[in-house]
Amino acid sequence: MAGITGTFKAVKRALKAATDINPGEYRAAGIPVSCPHCHGKAFNESPNLGGGVNLACRKCHFVLWFAKKPDEA
Ligand SMILES: [Zn+2]
Repeated sequence: MAGITGTFKAVKRALKAATDINPGEYRAAGIPVSCPHCHGKAFNESPNLGGGVNLACRKCHFVLWFAKKPDEA
């Protein structure tokens, strides 16, 4: 089981490293994107199958769907 625990730790480390590199802040129409629920300013980006991108709030996980990717701030 030590192997599995080690793998989880490695994944956690990799996720943390990715978060450290990418602040996850965006601007749409020149306005900083903020979460309508918790007013967070950091998002994780993923493609949306209907086109554009999803930005998932890193604090509360609310998802915003943009038809065109906002600029990275
Ligand atoms: Zn939020």
